[in-house]
Amino acid sequence: MAPKIIVAGISQETCSFNTVKTTLQDFKDTYFRQGHEVVDIPSTDGVIGGFCSMMRAKNYSLEGVISTKSMSGGKLTTETFTELKKILLTGIKNTKNIDAVFLALHGAMEAEDEFDTEGNIISEVRKLVGKNCFIGVTLDHHANVTKKMADAANVMVGYETQPHLLSESGIKTAEVMLDIWENKRTPHVALIKVPMLAPQDNFLTSGGPMKEWFDLAREMEKDPEIIVASTFPTQPWLDVPDNGWSCLVYADSKEKAKTSAEKLARKAWDLRAKFWRSERLSIAETIKIANEEPNGVVVISDTGDAIFGGAPGDNMSLIAEMIKCNLHGQVLIPVVDQKALNQALKAGIGKETTLQIGGKMSAGFSPELNIKGIVKATTQAGCLAFAGRTAYVGRTVLFEQGNLKIVIMEKRDYAINHPSLYEKLGIDVSKAQMVVLKTGSNFQYFKKYQSRLLRADSPGATQSDLTAFKWKNMTHPIYPFDDIKDWRI
Ligand SMILES: [Zn+2]
Repeated sequence: MAPKIIVAGISQETCSFNTVKTTLQDFKDTYFRQGHEVVDIPSTDGVIGGFCSMMRAKNYSLEGVISTKSMSGGKLTTETFTELKKILLTGIKNTKNIDAVFLALHGAMEAEDEFDTEGNIISEVRKLVGKNCFIGVTLDHHANVTKKMADAANVMVGYETQPHLLSESGIKTAEVMLDIWENKRTPHVALIKVPMLAPQDNFLTSGGPMKEWFDLAREMEKDPEIIVASTFPTQPWLDVPDNGWSCLVYADSKEKAKTSAEKLARKAWDLRAKFWRSERLSIAETIKIANEEPNGVVVISDTGDAIFGGAPGDNMSLIAEMIKCNLHGQVLIPVVDQKALNQALKAGIGKETTLQIGGKMSAGFSPELNIKGIVKATTQAGCLAFAGRTAYVGRTVLFEQGNLKIVIMEKRDYAINHPSLYEKLGIDVSKAQMVVLKTGSNFQYFKKYQSRLLRADSPGATQSDLTAFKWKNMTHPIYPFDDIKDWRI
């Protein structure tokens, strides 16, 4: 009989500074599958799609339990975490003769009463399946890897790139697991935490210090004694104890794993100041430069309201500045605000009206603005195909004041950083002067339009000025919050 692998995934990236809690409905709205639907997916469908395609080719029997993800956001409510875990553990309990468990997790998911949800999940699974069952895990490299996670899993593999290549990460984990099984290797683990955090400004792995650090791990993996080496620059808005960057190496010997993880840790520490270099501009400066650019489309990163980092998407700080300016060309900007959307729909297409927009979920970081404009177009909710997949997108409204084209969205969804959001409303993105993206890293979908990229130093739940937050749970000392004279591993 073919060996049986349980396949499951529960994933969300938590921003502790977004006060809007994440609920079960948020997971259901984003991606929620159970049973065979978990594994009967194309190879391109995320981490699990990639993993399953590899394992299926090797004739493993795959048993799906739950696969769900929510948009990044606030902490999970206790009920949400409890319910998702219950589905996972019940599914595993009801499956006979399990040879292995594969989990696609994030690594930076926080619940109201649990800082380390992944450590909790993996150790609960371990309790159920016993010490002889293999547990393999894929983690987003923005994870805060904990000892509890490393103790409970047999192997954990981090993503290699930002922007992330999900399917490829699932394939890599499958390859690592197959290598361990087929070559009868025993993975010895070393996890080293580096006491540092850094903002998102240098998170792309295509260049700069991040490339240098990740390249070292790839180089290390060429060593035949190394099974897999992962680097984790944790996402910087997670306010939990023992937070910090992580280096995780699995090797054929304890000594090899340890010396290699130390090498990765030392490299991150030596590069620490470079990760804090920034090209951010003040909001006023950003808009002034973008407005004068002769060849649009200028892509503006609203760094403080990065949805993929967990911000709410209703921060009005950029719009507050824009309405003071004489905008030379069309400006495209999204705002998530269900109440304003309903007000606009009530007014109707072609009508001039004043809407109270934004600043509700981002209260404390953003004003709520009264803006007079015209409702130009609307779209119904439905599934939208983009970036090689389909995702549910809520209703949208195009609300215009002169050159300012605000797209009001009902829900926080992936479309917020994709041209299809505007195209569906009849807007030609190539004719815009500026487009605002609610991300600090995922500009790839606008690449064909982009003349230049400006990073606005905007306030918000994902702002880059990490020192301005009120941290409650952080373990000290940690760079750059504390002055660490001499860090030894
Ligand atoms: Zn990530």
